[in-house]
Amino acid sequence: MLSWKKLSRLKKEDIKKLQDKKLRYFLRHEIPYHPHYRKLFDKLKLKFDDIKSTDDLVKLPFSSKADIAPTKADSKRPREFILQPDKELLKQYAPKSKLIKFLFNKELVYYEYKPIHMHVTTGRTALPTPFLYSGQDLERLKETGRRMFDVFGFSKEDRGVNAFPYAPHLAFWQTYYGSIASETLSLPTGGGKIMGSEAIIKAIENLKASILISMPGYAYHLARKGAEEKKDFSNLKNIVFGGERVPAGLKDKLREVLAKTKCRNPKILSTYAFTEGKGAWAECDEGSGYHLYPDLEFIEVIDKNGDRVGEGEEGEVVYTALDWRGTVVLRYKTGDISKIYYDKCSCGRTVPRLDSTIERSSEIKEFRFSKIKGTLVNLNRFFALMSGHKSIDEWQVEIKKKRNDPYGVDELILYIAPRKKVDVAKLKMELKKIVREATEVTPDIIMMDKARLLDRLGMETELKEKRIVDSRPKK
Ligand SMILES: [Zn+2]
Repeated sequence: MLSWKKLSRLKKEDIKKLQDKKLRYFLRHEIPYHPHYRKLFDKLKLKFDDIKSTDDLVKLPFSSKADIAPTKADSKRPREFILQPDKELLKQYAPKSKLIKFLFNKELVYYEYKPIHMHVTTGRTALPTPFLYSGQDLERLKETGRRMFDVFGFSKEDRGVNAFPYAPHLAFWQTYYGSIASETLSLPTGGGKIMGSEAIIKAIENLKASILISMPGYAYHLARKGAEEKKDFSNLKNIVFGGERVPAGLKDKLREVLAKTKCRNPKILSTYAFTEGKGAWAECDEGSGYHLYPDLEFIEVIDKNGDRVGEGEEGEVVYTALDWRGTVVLRYKTGDISKIYYDKCSCGRTVPRLDSTIERSSEIKEFRFSKIKGTLVNLNRFFALMSGHKSIDEWQVEIKKKRNDPYGVDELILYIAPRKKVDVAKLKMELKKIVREATEVTPDIIMMDKARLLDRLGMETELKEKRIVDSRPKK
């Protein structure tokens, strides 16, 4: 593996060559162990070496969650996406130099292929889907963590508080392995439900933490609590967000609250990741874009017809694994909307970058506002509108069936805890208007105090705050 230092400064044409080479190797020597793609190549009458470069990848159809997620009728589908070499397959497809080692030392095969760690994705429409990592994958997860900390500009002297919820999710474990690999002292708190916010803000102060890594809404909660209790966060220099997109207004509000804890001008950086991608990507500066790892994945951005768009043009992010084991996907449609850049970043790194503003597909929900057909409403807008709003302290959206009638139409309720000294009647009118303009839905708005809303959000009791609650009965 090329060192990150060299890789992140390779010339554009050398990155292309490297990705072509990696892809050829992956398709010839690894994908034959993949039950789903082996069958797919067969069905398409494609040979593994018909794809010689990332340009040829267009010969392959896209994959999506619908291919991987288990169904009631077929609960074993995720297994079809795990690399599973047996002796016969190894003899047929492993490169000769490797095969000799494998035949003499079974441990090497276990290290590279045996799943030993898993993350689980959940969703309203799909059953929980496991994503597995081998021992070698966990080394890769350490490597992506080390790279992230390098892109952020962290050093061994930094001290971190990991406030991600403790769960089989990438955010917590990427941060955990990132700090281990970077030899940065870190406290894996598990978030509000595990360690409690009270203990976490004490830890930020006592540890003299310079890094706080958290979900955006939870970071704001910790900062506000710290300000209320007059904590000293003066060592805090970096806030790293993960898990969801971050509206500019929230950064301003966070800085304002943090200033009351003597934390001045912190850098507020974001990360981007999805379970299927197995590692996370980082910004080097606010808005610089997420720095990709061209030796581990190939990212393309496509339009509605599935054709690739040009540099800087908006489209859907499509992911292809180049060097992972365990569960792997090729041409996976994430549903997330972004842009890709290939120019040199201001930090000097030359790896491709994804635009910092990404619309996550997980926040698009289907509604039935009439009895006839479903309407897709993009709740991404809610995050920007509500979290970034100067007059709003906390908020929650609930989607319900009118009068709890399972066959009835959907309704949208917006719970708001206003900030101090806000004209509530005026705010209510303003919110009705901006929500309707952004989503074509008129919400019911219920005002309540912060304590009650924090309770509703489960800030101290849920793994992840319940920002959008879908109370409709499951189909
Ligand atoms: Zn950069």
